[in-house]
Amino acid sequence: MQETWDVIVAGGGNAGLSAAISAASKGRRVLLIERGDEASRGGNSKYTRDIRYAHDHDAITTGRYSEAEFLEDLLGVTLGKTNLELAKFVIKESFGVKEFMEDNGVLWQKPLKGTLHLARTNAFFLGGGKALVNAYYARAQKLGVKVMYSAAVQDAVIEEDTFRSVVVQSGDKTQTIIGKALVAASGGFESNAAWLEEYWGEASRNFVVRGCAYNDGLLMRALFKNSALPVGDPRDAHMVLVDARSPRFDGGIVTRVDSVPFGIVINVDGKRFYDEGEELWPKRYAIWGRLTAEQPSQMSFSIVDSKTVGLFLPTTFPPHRANSIVELANKIAVEPRGLVETVQEFNSHVADDGRFNPGILDSCHTDGLRPPKSHWALPIDSPPFYAYPLMPGITFTYMGLGVDGSGRVLRRGRSPFRNVFAAGENMMGNILTKGYLAGFGMTIGTVFGKVAGEQASSVV
Ligand SMILES: Cc1cc2nc3c(=O)[nH]c(=O)nc-3n(C[C@H](O)[C@H](O)[C@H](O)COP(=O)(O)OP(=O)(O)OC[C@H]3O[C@@H](n4cnc5c(N)ncnc54)[C@H](O)[C@@H]3O)c2cc1C
Repeated sequence: MQETWDVIVAGGGNAGLSAAISAASKGRRVLLIERGDEASRGGNSKYTRDIRYAHDHDAITTGRYSEAEFLEDLLGVTLGKTNLELAKFVIKESFGVKEFMEDNGVLWQKPLKGTLHLARTNAFFLGGGKALVNAYYARAQKLGVKVMYSAAVQDAVIEEDTFRSVVVQSGDKTQTIIGKALVAASGGFESNAAWLEEYWGEASRNFVVRGCAYNDGLLMRALFKNSALPVGDPRDAHMVLVDARSPRFDGGIVTRVDSVPFGIVINVDGKRFYDEGEELWPKRYAIWGRLTAEQPSQMSFSIVDSKTVGLFLPTTFPPHRANSIVELANKIAVEPRGLVETVQEFNSHVADDGRFNPGILDSCHTDGLRPPKSHWALPIDSPPFYAYPLMPGITFTYMGLGVDGSGRVLRRGRSPFRNVFAAGENMMGNILTKGYLAGFGMTIGTVFGKVAGEQASSVV
């Protein structure tokens, strides 16, 4: 007789681990299938640093963050395009994530200092996402969760509305594993170059994947084939600017470049294309990858001068450095006259009555310039000048499985699946459409992971 698991969790990142822990805590027999091996386990979650959550004043943040303010922030970045019911649910439940995380071994850093603007709203994991993932694996295994490494769920066998088994590839072995409920937590499809190209065309060949190489959407596709409801625009993704010299996969957090608000950004033609000072960086950093993806050669350059070069996080790759704009243009292979004109035009529109303050939406702005720079606009006139070559770094895709408030996966034109649930990047598109709030990926994964694990436990 083949073994039957109560709950099969596909994917061992934050969402899958939260689901496995919550199902095992309810006494269920849980199998967690993870594509990475023991050393590379933890998907994109191992690269994270922080989580956003609603809270009253506590010791790991600098002040209160109410549900109402959280929702307002979310509606601001998504321009109101979100499933309001699910968004409110996640925010409400985020009140409890600190306790859940602590109970399962997560330790915290002291609140941040500096210009990241996250100290009040977000808490930072001691040891980062890698330590969080390690703590969760240890906890899951203590609760009796069986972990199967280096194994990919390739397909799901479904009869009408009911999941029966998964087809798993491990090395050259393919096997069918039976379960009473399935939690899909296998990430987005950002690592699937061919799938990205369907929506982005050849431009996607110039994208860097910041996280793991495993999130190729295999299971999501299998569920779509079984009439799961897709939600979210397949072209939408969390995409930031990374250094153009980054590796194709697994660059993690250190390849990101955060210099945008401190200077100007130009494309390969030497032209500016968007307001670099529109909002505080945590509310805007996730739109710049896409903006650059839409530029020629999917490339851009952040240009700063000696006044601001020390004000943002140091970068892994050193910037190009020059004593004149012409010299800088030559170093980055941008037509010098064009770049000189862009810088001169920008400098001549900087209002002279602003007071520079990188910690707030300050009064330094341009007048009559298109596109404007709304804050932190200082003339670029103090050599040496610096250029960071940038390209889109895709963090995760938004399109995913439509779910209801219990994480249950919806079907096209029919009742939801009886025993299929989704959590994390697999279902981000229900809530995230445009833009991003720093730390919200872990909020969605933790809340829906926990809920999906509980709900999966209740149907077996
Ligand atoms: C560099 C970087 C930094 C980030 N920083 C933050 C941050 O500080 N705060 C924040 O909130 N968010 C951050 N994010 C986003 C965050 O990582 C995600 O929102 C979150 O980790 C998603 O969790 P998940 O469990 O859904 O996906 P993942 O953590 O990616 O886990 C998916 C897992 O599924 C496995 N898998 C994939 N396909 C299969 C398959 N077919 N069968 C079996 N297993 C499979 C993978 O191996 C992986 O372990 C960051 C992302 C990156 C890349």
